[in-house]
Amino acid sequence: MQYYEIGTWAVLGLITGSFVNVCLERLPLQFADKEKRSHLLTSPETSTFLKQYIRDQTLSLYNPARSFCFSCGHQLRWFENIPLFSYLMCGGHCRKCNAAIGIKTISTEALHGLWYAVMGWFLHGWILPLTFSITFSFLWILGHCWNCQQLRKTLFFAGAILLILNFGAYSY
Ligand SMILES: [Zn+2]
Repeated sequence: MQYYEIGTWAVLGLITGSFVNVCLERLPLQFADKEKRSHLLTSPETSTFLKQYIRDQTLSLYNPARSFCFSCGHQLRWFENIPLFSYLMCGGHCRKCNAAIGIKTISTEALHGLWYAVMGWFLHGWILPLTFSITFSFLWILGHCWNCQQLRKTLFFAGAILLILNFGAYSY
């Protein structure tokens, strides 16, 4: 295995980790039940910007298309969206309102980069490492969103499809 191939797996992991972070931020709000929504709407910790999204129930993985700060609504520019680098460059804070981004964001990205690189390194070909990597990302999301009941049901459905994919990869 060449170094550039391992590097490619690491970059793929970092990009996926970045997407996983979007899932972890948005999915629990998108799938929040009535009780959780009303709790968030009355909580002083929820920003006015976010309350608008929760009230309209318009937040999803694709809306808004660009990542934004959950505290002030600042839309992230391209250079604020680079995995690991942006977090370190901004010192783990929003460039506009200085709200803390949280260590979970960078650890998700770093561990994804590491896991994808290790899978690419140890496993042959690309099907097995890719399957193991996607499974890792899925379990990461499932683990972090376990408490959200509605979302858990949807994730179990996605998990069943992933399981079939895994069997396909093993028999390949
Ligand atoms: Zn902000």
